[in-house]
Amino acid sequence: MNFQDRSVIVVEDHPFQRRMTLRQLGQLGVEDLLEAAHGREALNLLMARHAPVDVILCDLDMPEMDGVEFISHVATNRLARALLVVSAMDSAILHTVETMARAYGIQVLESIPKPLTAKLLADRLERLEEAGQAPAPADAAGEPGADELRRGLESREFLTFFQPKVDLATGQPTGVETLVRWYRPGQGVLCPGAFISRLEAEGLMDRLTEHLLRQSCLYLHAWEERGRTLEASVNISMTSLRDIAFADRLQQVVLDEGCDPRRITLEVTESEVMTELATVLNVLARLRLKGFKLSIDDFGTGYSTLKQLNSLPFTELKLDQAFIQAAPQDPRSRAIVEASLELAAKLGLKTVAEGIETRQQWDFIHASGCQEAQGYFISRPMPGHQLPEWLALWEAPETRPAVGRSSGHGRRPALDLPAFARAGA
Ligand code: C2E
Ligand code: CA
Ligand code: CA
Repeated sequence: MNFQDRSVIVVEDHPFQRRMTLRQLGQLGVEDLLEAAHGREALNLLMARHAPVDVILCDLDMPEMDGVEFISHVATNRLARALLVVSAMDSAILHTVETMARAYGIQVLESIPKPLTAKLLADRLERLEEAGQAPAPADAAGEPGADELRRGLESREFLTFFQPKVDLATGQPTGVETLVRWYRPGQGVLCPGAFISRLEAEGLMDRLTEHLLRQSCLYLHAWEERGRTLEASVNISMTSLRDIAFADRLQQVVLDEGCDPRRITLEVTESEVMTELATVLNVLARLRLKGFKLSIDDFGTGYSTLKQLNSLPFTELKLDQAFIQAAPQDPRSRAIVEASLELAAKLGLKTVAEGIETRQQWDFIHASGCQEAQGYFISRPMPGHQLPEWLALWEAPETRPAVGRSSGHGRRPALDLPAFARAGA
């Protein structure tokens, strides 16, 4: 078979391997050939073309820009029809990239190990679908239907992001909050506000929660292998708490993954802890008995009652970001934050301030006696494989040198998060 009408870009940092690959592609008849030493160079070349290239052939371990970020740019700008990864060392990263590419309508060709041979290359190029099946253009969002949600769950389009939390007294990272993102085909990355209520309405929320809990356990292991013992907080929906068997299922997930439930905090939004109180109490109490910790999320908003706080077995109080953000300049918000912290202390609850975006808010909350902090000032949510790098770079503001104090990441360069992580908070 001759691949004369195919266009391919080879992104490879080793000059010798790049030349070898280009030669092999030339021998297969590919005439429209581009080469780049790294992601940035490749993006410049691709942006300059009038049409998407047929195949991007790359290694995910690239200098300048990591493979995840590179593919996210390719995908959002529709710069290629298909992706062919050569030698992915880390299957979790490969999976993330492939899911993301597919979600954007890019065909994913089966990855090939190194050394690359002309035979393998020909095999993959043959599988490239015909030109008519180019990436689907982004259409207007619209509410996702039950079938689409189900398919999304089955094809693992829902991905876990993690936002770090730090101990305010020591500055040390203590854990993460697990937040879901949906790579909806043709629509890019959707934040939970766009689909959680649909999942709940379709009775699919438990499946997602169990998936996110499992992923959280897997990542806790992965980070631990790299020397960091962390905890994870997983959000649960009120709809799940109306089902008596929910506690057993969550326990099973955690045990299946060899994880200790005491390292998992389940966050429940306070405004929802209202209906069917008897069942909710039963489920929450059983979750506590099994070792899970329980956090009352967005504390201070809407429907809170002190009675609930008294009757439900919470271990943590999470202050709502609206109060945290307003507190430094607004005396009323400050009073609410201070009263909540005092209440939590008297009830023996751990306290977490979320939504910290500025140094001023950090300083306020640092002086307030709150125990943990979370927010963009510390870090945006990120894919799990990026966390070790963030942990290595993180410095609490107090320990940073005076120069560059206003930046969120201290004296070392800010992490180069993929575009979808930056946009996805
Ligand atoms: P939440 O539980 O209050 O989560 C915190 C939200 O605030 C997240 O939005 C996070 O990205 C965002 N955030 C964090 N730091 C900052 C900051 O400094 N400034 C600002 N402006 N925002 C910040 P996200 O991920 O869009 O999630 C929105 C909500 O969706 C969550 O609010 C949670 O209630 C719900 N959610 C997310 N993931 C799940 C899930 O797996 N299950 C359930 N049931 N709900 C989820
Ligand atoms: Ca939460
Ligand atoms: Ca919250």
